[in-house]
Parts: sequence; structure tokens; C-alpha cells
Amino acid sequence: MKNNEMKVFEALRWASSFLQKHNYESRIGELLLIYHTGWNRARLLAERMAILDQDMLHAFVENVERAASGVPVQHIIGSEEFYGRQFRVNGDVLIPRPETEELIVAVLHKIPEVCRGNAEETCKPDGNSSLRIVDVGTGSGIIAVTMKLEVAIPSEIVAVDISPSALRVAKENALELGADVEFIEGDLLSPLIDRGEKVNVVLSNPPYIPEGDRSFMKENVVDHEPSLALFAGDDGLDVYRNLVKQIPEVLLKPGLIGLEIGHGQGEAVAKLIREVYPQCEQVEVKNDINGKERMVLAIVK
Ligand code: GLN
Repeated sequence: MKNNEMKVFEALRWASSFLQKHNYESRIGELLLIYHTGWNRARLLAERMAILDQDMLHAFVENVERAASGVPVQHIIGSEEFYGRQFRVNGDVLIPRPETEELIVAVLHKIPEVCRGNAEETCKPDGNSSLRIVDVGTGSGIIAVTMKLEVAIPSEIVAVDISPSALRVAKENALELGADVEFIEGDLLSPLIDRGEKVNVVLSNPPYIPEGDRSFMKENVVDHEPSLALFAGDDGLDVYRNLVKQIPEVLLKPGLIGLEIGHGQGEAVAKLIREVYPQCEQVEVKNDINGKERMVLAIVK
């Protein structure tokens, strides 16, 4: 691609066909041009006849080429939107996915159910105690930070991750977005168990991809996102097995469990929950907007 003089629409047209040729979405070109110009989408469309500055065009072309070679656009831009907020991301954390926004929506909807039974001890908007939530494997911190900012009652949020470099990203996001979250380095719920701490809600979007799927996945995921955040044994259920076993040691009753899952894992994960809570009648597998199994929610009374 020669860096001749180019108008906005020509640059977008070139990027779109270049990306498609490499099996990437043409939308990435638009995101990159928004990033380089600092304009929003509407302005980009309005200025489609504007001539791009040579240096900007050069940088844009370079980044479109990087994206077409598999570098996630979020790593180039340095952020991804989640639940209406921008979160910083890098190669140390999973890039936020829109499916996880659906977990947030479902969990927010269920929270009143765990508050009601506890009204005297917890969840009092004007009381001293507040709703305690743990986000296990927080990664970039999206679940912990979003819950802190979206739950309508006072809450204390704890976020755990085994990766110190992921925690650095999560802390930065919490600070930038003004969310008061406590971050702890550790394996699943072990740090809470060690401290004897209890919570009302356990949330997690753990790694859940079966190891064997690695070979069919695109290079922008397998070569650029941390394996630790993606894969969990032969059937993808290893982390759920270890996590669910620990839940009764930290979860108060009534308590809420909200786990993101992969398609086809619903029944297996629901069964793990029923094994530790044989009396629990409220275990529900929910699909995402694409009709795929995406989360398991359980209310433990
Ligand atoms: N909780 C983070 C997210 O939902 C990280 C998840 C992960 O690393 N598996 O994006």
C-alpha cells in the first residue's frame, strides 16, 4: 500500500478490503481511524472527503497491517468498552467480551433476591453493613469495577486474580473509573478462605475453553491473549470444579452465584453447584442473545 494522499473514505475503503482479505472484520479499520483522528464515528462519516494528514495516514496504515496480522485492535488502541466504560487492556488480561455484559445484567437483576432475606444483617442502603461481592479471576477488572459502579446499594467488592500483571491492569482501571475495589493476589477463593471472609455474591468469568480447541482458534486470540485466562483442561471445566468446591466456605445464605460459561457447559456446571448445595432449587442456565448457553446463576438459601 503506497501512502499517497488519501481521503477519509478512501482510507476506510482500503482498510476494509485489506482486513477482509486477511479474514478480519472491516469494522477494525473504522475503529483504528477513530483512534488516529480522535473523531467519533459520526464525525468520521461527516468528514469522509477530508484529506488525511500524511503522518496520520502512515500510522493508520501500519496499524491496519498489524491488525490484519492478528494483533487485536484493542491492544493497538489500548482499551475496550465494557458496559459503557473504557477499560485499559494489554496482553496480560483477557479482552472484555460483550457476553460478559449479559452476566452483569443478569446478576444485577438477581441481587434484590439475596438482599431480601438478609435485610437485617446486610444490604441496608443506610446501614453500616453492605453487600459483599467477590469477582474471581478479575483479569482487567471489568466485573468487579462494573458491579461497584452499578449496584444500587452500598457494596464492598473484592477481586482476586492469580496473575500479578493482570492485577496491575485491574487496579489501574479501578482507579481511573473511580471504583473502590479491594484487589488480592491469589488462587480462586483461597485468599478469602484463609482470612475467614464471607460474601453474599460470588461472580466469575473463569477460563473455560477446552485445551483441544486451541488449534481451531484464530491467531488474534491464541497468540495475543493469555492462555491462563482462556483454557481450563480437557473439557474446559477444571476451574469450575476447583472454584465451586470452595464456594460453601465463603458464601453467606442467602447467597448468589453467577458464573459465565461456554456453550454446552451449562448442565455440567449446574451439576457441580448442586453437588455442593444439594438442597438448592434455584440453579438456572441462561443463554446469551445469540442463543448460546452463557451463564449459570444460582441462589442459595
Ligand atoms: N473477569 C475478566 C473478564 O471477564 C477476566 C476473565 C478471564 O480472564 N477469564 O473479562
